[in-house]
Amino acid sequence: MTNQQLQALVEEISLSSFHQPFVHQAIFNSRLKTTGGRYHLKDHHLDFNPLMLDYGQEVFANIIKHELCHYHLHLAKKGYQHKDADFKWLLKEVGGLRFAPRSEKSTPTAKKNHYICTSCAQEYWRVKQINTKRYVCGRCHGLLKKCS
Ligand SMILES: [Zn+2]
Ligand SMILES: [Zn+2]
Repeated sequence: MTNQQLQALVEEISLSSFHQPFVHQAIFNSRLKTTGGRYHLKDHHLDFNPLMLDYGQEVFANIIKHELCHYHLHLAKKGYQHKDADFKWLLKEVGGLRFAPRSEKSTPTAKKNHYICTSCAQEYWRVKQINTKRYVCGRCHGLLKKCS
């Protein structure tokens, strides 16, 4: 995915989930290590970690929603921080991720099947495949998705 495609995706998600335009810049930043994205208070641009694309389109879209919650709330002069009630409410409303997935470095090699919860980013490693239609996240009951 290029920076232009990222920009278009963020604009699209902003309109469809928040019903408000994203009028600033979104770019990939490979220096982000542990976070999925970052919102810059000063110039309102968004940075995204390109490694997060490995978790699939759905998880990546939910990371974008998380960052857009910071963005729209800050511009509306509402509570834009993780601890704020406005933030918690909006994040739930749009279905954004609460936490970014951890990096792949701690991968248990014996367990080949890697799943991630699409709503809270909890990761699951299993020797056998899970039927994701039958099993949901044990932490939040969100849908599980297989990672590549
Ligand atoms: Zn955040
Ligand atoms: Zn979950």
